[in-house]
Amino acid sequence: MVKLILLVAIIYAIFHFFIKPKPIQDKKTTKEEQDEDIMVECAKCKTYVSSKEAIIKNGKYYCSKECAKDDN
Ligand SMILES: [Zn+2]
Repeated sequence: MVKLILLVAIIYAIFHFFIKPKPIQDKKTTKEEQDEDIMVECAKCKTYVSSKEAIIKNGKYYCSKECAKDDN
């Protein structure tokens, strides 16, 4: 009887050990999602561009240099 309890405890410990790393992978995925570029609206022509390609001028997003220049 004592051996059976010990066996269950060992199996539980092994099971727990293999399941544990999963939440760490979930945190990594969340971080990658935050690094992804978001779509922003051009303050001049209202065109949506990715935040990586957008030009930021006076705290506003613009799709191109022309739009940033014209909106002065
Ligand atoms: Zn524009």
